[in-house]
Amino acid sequence: KKITVAIDGFSSTGKSTLAKQLAKELEYVYVDTGAMYRAVAYYAMQNQLIGSDFFDKIALIQALPKIQLEFKFNADLGFGEMYLNDENVEKQIRTIEVSNFVSKVAEISEVRSKLVEQQQEMGKNKAIVMDGRDIGTVVFPDAELKIFMTASAETRAQRRFDELQQKGDDVSYEDVLKNVVERDYIDTHRADSPLVIADDAIEIDNSYLNREEQFAAVLELIND
Ligand code: C5P
Repeated sequence: KKITVAIDGFSSTGKSTLAKQLAKELEYVYVDTGAMYRAVAYYAMQNQLIGSDFFDKIALIQALPKIQLEFKFNADLGFGEMYLNDENVEKQIRTIEVSNFVSKVAEISEVRSKLVEQQQEMGKNKAIVMDGRDIGTVVFPDAELKIFMTASAETRAQRRFDELQQKGDDVSYEDVLKNVVERDYIDTHRADSPLVIADDAIEIDNSYLNREEQFAAVLELIND
């Protein structure tokens, strides 16, 4: 039996790690919706529509038809990589700069409706694991399994900091923590589809569970 698995939660809770593991094990398609919001933010940065002291929302909304997003499957990785107007932007969208702007871009209703529509199309009649913030509430409210992942801001900042360091990104733990807290705030307070836990979601706090325990717990839910 193939189902839709929605994985939502705060940033850096290990959503994508879990979602990828599940997709691989079950041979489902994995979709990282955060990558799509990141790609739009990256486009806005590249085109000088957003910066530390400006954000031309109107121009971004007008540019939306020119922003083409596509996941192209990479067989070595086992999942799709994000392409923005035919350019692979996987690396570019994971920087701290993009992380600093992405939640502001994700607040815009026109951006959300464009991406949600595309996500619903990708998931139509497919065995899919999708991770994001509003998958179980907005994109697939009828998903058979909804997981909501949480962890303390400190645990999440440490995880993101370690990842960025490994990539050679020169950031401080304090800046990463600040970004995590800021994004939590914007994501939970925006007018359009704020981050909330779906009534029928199962909450997993991974401050206490390691990767393997988490994976085992969710697989058991799917096989039930
Ligand atoms: O998951 P990730 O941390 O890559 O997502 C980046 C940002 O994109 C989030 O902080 C949030 O502002 C936005 N986002 C969203 N809805 C989604 C996925 C991501 O608003 N479904």
